[in-house]
Amino acid sequence: MDKRKIIKVYIHHSALSPDVGLEAIRELHIQRGFDDIGYHFVIEKNGEIRKGRDINTQGAHVKGDNAESIGICVCGNFEETCPNKIQIKTLITLLNKLFRKFGELQILGHKDFSLADTLCPGKYLYESLPDIRKKLRIQKQTKDD
Ligand SMILES: [Zn+2]
Repeated sequence: MDKRKIIKVYIHHSALSPDVGLEAIRELHIQRGFDDIGYHFVIEKNGEIRKGRDINTQGAHVKGDNAESIGICVCGNFEETCPNKIQIKTLITLLNKLFRKFGELQILGHKDFSLADTLCPGKYLYESLPDIRKKLRIQKQTKDD
């Protein structure tokens, strides 16, 4: 199978209770008519990374910009509450792994896509993205030293 070209990562929230994990989200997406869960990774409430769609398969998470992107969903509704520390820590670990595999990628919130009409990934997670990007850069520099 040809490898997909990947240049960016979109961060999402589930916009559901943080107790709703991968299996239930997959169920919802299949009910919506998708072949499988739309995201490639789901970070559950306890910080566990669950694999969704295969990374070499195009996702269904940003209508109009799925071709060269990876979709990560963090469980919770971050319009209402902050993601917990372990979820952020796990997200950084996962992004670092993806950088090692694909090179440096653009890290975006779902709502950064100009055609997206959404609050996703919620204001509290969206607010953390600059800090997450900074931490990735720092870890990269430390690794290069
Ligand atoms: Zn989203």
